[in-house]
Amino acid sequence: MIAGWRKERSFSQAARLHWLALAVALVLVGGVIGYNLLLMRERVIRQEESRLLSQARVIGNGIELQLEVTNRALEGVLHEYRQLSPPGDRSRLNRRLGLLVEAIPGIRTLVVTDAAGVVIASNRPELIGRSTASRQYFTEPRRHLHAATLYISPPFRSYLRNYLFDLTRVLPGTGGRFGGVISAGVDPDFFADILEASLYAPDMRNTIAHGDGLRFMSLPLQKGLDGTDMAVSGSLFNRHRRGGRMEDLYTDRPCSRTGEHRIVAFRTVQPAALRMDRPLVVICSRSTAAILQGWRDQTIFQGVLFLLLCLGGALGLVLVHRRQRILELAARRTEELVGLRYQLLDYASLHPVDELLQYALDEVCRITDSPIGFYHFVDPDQQGLTLQAWSTRTKEEFCRADGAGMHYDIGQAGVWADAVRTRAPVIHNDYAAVPDTKGLPPGHAQVVRELVVPVIRDERVVAVLGVGNKVTPYGEKDTVEVDYLADVTWEIIASRRDQEELRQANELLATQARIDFLTGVYNRRMLDSLLTAEMTRACRYDEPLSLIMLDLDHFKRVNDSLGHRAGDQVLQRLVALLSGRVRSHDIVSRWGGEEFLVLTPNSDLSQAAALAEDLRELTAEHDFGDGLRITVSFGVTSHCCGESAETFVARADTALYEAKRNGRNRVERL
Ligand code: GH3
Ligand code: MG
Ligand code: MG
Repeated sequence: MIAGWRKERSFSQAARLHWLALAVALVLVGGVIGYNLLLMRERVIRQEESRLLSQARVIGNGIELQLEVTNRALEGVLHEYRQLSPPGDRSRLNRRLGLLVEAIPGIRTLVVTDAAGVVIASNRPELIGRSTASRQYFTEPRRHLHAATLYISPPFRSYLRNYLFDLTRVLPGTGGRFGGVISAGVDPDFFADILEASLYAPDMRNTIAHGDGLRFMSLPLQKGLDGTDMAVSGSLFNRHRRGGRMEDLYTDRPCSRTGEHRIVAFRTVQPAALRMDRPLVVICSRSTAAILQGWRDQTIFQGVLFLLLCLGGALGLVLVHRRQRILELAARRTEELVGLRYQLLDYASLHPVDELLQYALDEVCRITDSPIGFYHFVDPDQQGLTLQAWSTRTKEEFCRADGAGMHYDIGQAGVWADAVRTRAPVIHNDYAAVPDTKGLPPGHAQVVRELVVPVIRDERVVAVLGVGNKVTPYGEKDTVEVDYLADVTWEIIASRRDQEELRQANELLATQARIDFLTGVYNRRMLDSLLTAEMTRACRYDEPLSLIMLDLDHFKRVNDSLGHRAGDQVLQRLVALLSGRVRSHDIVSRWGGEEFLVLTPNSDLSQAAALAEDLRELTAEHDFGDGLRITVSFGVTSHCCGESAETFVARADTALYEAKRNGRNRVERL
């Protein structure tokens, strides 16, 4: 029990260790995966940042080029305007403006105003004469009057409903006074093309804004977005503007308008070669969620893989543990079975076979969870079975005090006969289908399931052991266990039988070694040892010890005339006669052939001679059948301390010889 408990403990300890190892391994793998995913996310973000920034640069450079070209065109017009003579020759100027607008992409309108803001020349004749005095592109330059400055107007809505801005230079008047402005209205389509060309993802937005914050254009187009003010408080635009850097990157910031998180690249466009009153700002942005879409898919994929790994690992470990547990249980079961074998052997050494079988059956029932069990011996001719033992509960359930000894013909033995015939275990898990042919009294407990295994020795079924009525069906495991125990039980019974036979044989041998088989008295070998013992005893206690040797007279004649068998009977009758007459402690023995010795402890020579005489008379007067008379000659002698048995016997033999020589049927002493 202690050992089992220890094993149990060590098993759960090992199991805990396995789980710990699995957990550590999974945490490590999870850590590596997580770290890798973080690195990947970082890489994706960095990549996107640099792409957005470079797009902003490309757009910025395009705009810069456009500003420079426009500025140069304006300077060209300025130059031409100064040299205009007379200054009123406007038609030439108008033509010139028309040519420029056609030559420079990105400029839609060119106007020249006088100091009062009235358009005096334009590529579009319908504008001439109109007042621009209230327009910002007029008021701003007039206020500052920097001749070298390129003024950029805030975006304003055009007649065509899209937003425009103007690039304006101051026209110097006579005497250094303000002479008006020359202004270029940009073509929104041109900027739209630049912005469009840099869009590389559906969620991307490219924007150009005025340095003061008004949005000029945003692509993809969104209603109501153009013309709005980006310089609201807390906006990224403000941060960029205040920071004073050319470029800024803001990662994963909530859009102040929609709240959506985006990566935003700002680039301020303010070419070094130009003196601009305000910069333009290019903004490229993308939604963080969209950028990380691929990464998120990858994360989900790897997460699912990791989850599967965890589940697989756990499942694998559970299976391994279960398998180990099953193996350990099987090992423990085997241990138990082996233990049971020794238990049965112990039991067998103290109890008779029928009790052993009873005990074994109860144990088999216990082990297989079976309420009932039977043990049958099978006749050597395999034609019948004898019920040897029932388990205790079988007896209770079948209301029969003792069924042992019941004999069945093989034809009536049902499932037991099947096991004998097939020499293989038989299982009936649904016994209702099999008619009850076992001669059990009806109305008693019914056998619903049964497992019967044969015990086979030398190609013959010697016994069958059956268990029955387990709650669950019988299976391979039960078969193996019952088979083992049936075998063990038979071994014990067989060895008990062998022992018994051996004991009897030994006893027989021992008897044969001491007793003469014809007459039933001690034989010569036994007498030898008795003689030595008696001689020692007589000397030690200084008691007399005498020996009578006797031989039948003319016994050959008896054999010759009546036959050997009659001779044997004569010998047997003579011995019976002698044995009936001697004292209880006198020892009669057959010395060989028809010679006998009578050892008479505590008798001296004359007492022994008297006994011999007595025996002689008795014999001579006895009728050995059909009037047959036999005489016997006797030689008597007494033991002298110190002499050997041989000498002692030889002297009796000599005395006997004397009796024969002196005429037979007499006693001689020496
Ligand atoms: P005597 O002793 O008087 O000189 O004559 P005897 O005929 O007895 O001669 P002997 O002792 O030489 O012969 C012994 C005979 O006893 C020989 C043998 O056939 C017979 N004999 C010895 N043992 C047995 C025995 O067990 N059964 C029978 N039927 N005869 C035996
Ligand atoms: Mg003889
Ligand atoms: Mg003789």
